[in-house]
Amino acid sequence: MIRLAALLLAILVPLYAAGQTPPEHAVTAQAIALQTDRAHGPLVALRRDLHAHPELAGQEARTAATVAARLRTLGLEVQIGLYGHSVVGVLRGAHAGRTIAWRAELDALQTYLVDATPFRSQTPGVHHGCGHDTHIAIALGIAEVLAQHRDQLHGNAVFIFQPEEETFRGAKAMLDRGLLTALPIDEIYGVHVTALPVGQIVVRHGEMFAYQRRIRIALKDGLTAAEIEQLAGQVQGALARSRPQARPWEIQRIAEPGVGLTSATTAFQDYLIVDRLQPTRTGAGTVNLEADLYETDAARLASIIPRVTQVVEASGHGGQLLSVDFIQQNPTVLNDPALTRSAMQTIRQAFGADAVQLAHGQGPFFNDDFAYFQQRVPGVYFFLGGSNADKGITAMNHTPNFAVDEESMRTGVKTFATLIASRLGP
Ligand SMILES: [Zn+2]
Repeated sequence: MIRLAALLLAILVPLYAAGQTPPEHAVTAQAIALQTDRAHGPLVALRRDLHAHPELAGQEARTAATVAARLRTLGLEVQIGLYGHSVVGVLRGAHAGRTIAWRAELDALQTYLVDATPFRSQTPGVHHGCGHDTHIAIALGIAEVLAQHRDQLHGNAVFIFQPEEETFRGAKAMLDRGLLTALPIDEIYGVHVTALPVGQIVVRHGEMFAYQRRIRIALKDGLTAAEIEQLAGQVQGALARSRPQARPWEIQRIAEPGVGLTSATTAFQDYLIVDRLQPTRTGAGTVNLEADLYETDAARLASIIPRVTQVVEASGHGGQLLSVDFIQQNPTVLNDPALTRSAMQTIRQAFGADAVQLAHGQGPFFNDDFAYFQQRVPGVYFFLGGSNADKGITAMNHTPNFAVDEESMRTGVKTFATLIASRLGP
């Protein structure tokens, strides 16, 4: 409650600090906040419509059509189908300048998760359980607000609505099909709602998530079930790492003071989580032990396979070891440090010191193919709090009862429209 009141006051502070005269025709955070408030009601309705009609990765036709129609109404140039159901909207400013991109995702999850909302999914087994419906609404809200400032913008704002995020395909496929050749982009930004207090924006200079890898230990069969279990336990015990008393696998605690991401002593730093190693007999005389693991420190990734090899050899089963490999390793969301610092400064100048907070750790179990954009263009990915205990909204993305307080959309639109306006300033 205290935080919301502080935010309302902060809205009245323009983008430029006291004593500093805004350049003539500069877009102010004040104007953006008022326009955001006007846009909010219809955006909530649009988000609820998307929520009621979720579509799986690769099938986002209705969602894409909704987005494209809205962008055209706002007067943006619209390009559809670069890959799958992708939609790209281009808002050309009146003056020459740089090109700043904003990314949103179109797809929903295949799941039977509980959804108590009156606008629940009308498609059996499909549900916006990751919050992408709110991301779409936020992106369209930013486009709507910035479209009202076209005459003041120096350069272009590009809105990328990518399909197939949940399968980690859409971003890479759009890049492979020449997204940046046709439309060179200087910087890219994006956001993910998650189980942090509503309106809280959190960011980090560097990795937002731990590095996820899937490891496979292939052994000649012949081990008993008990031997396999013992070996799996030894590997897990040798690899797993966390700070004393920290339990980084308890992701639902990311919002807790003292433990959560914004605490300097957060549980979510310096860890390696190893999921349970699952044995599979292949029928070709081998048994594979596989698990996902999450490591916060990029420099330690290279030591994992040698360490596992060592543990298997020390266990007495070295003669049966065929191979140890990472069978899956996606890039991780990696924020550009200079751009992150600059973005934090802009947001704080406009909305107050509390408007964005630093994450001192990285989230396990999640990742985002936004990472592929960041491999090509410097970018920043934010978390946006969508939980509200007073409304009974506390669940993590992809878990039962996940919901989003739609007030987070208001914060998202005004904050990130202000950020982009600042990047396209005179
Ligand atoms: Zn997501």
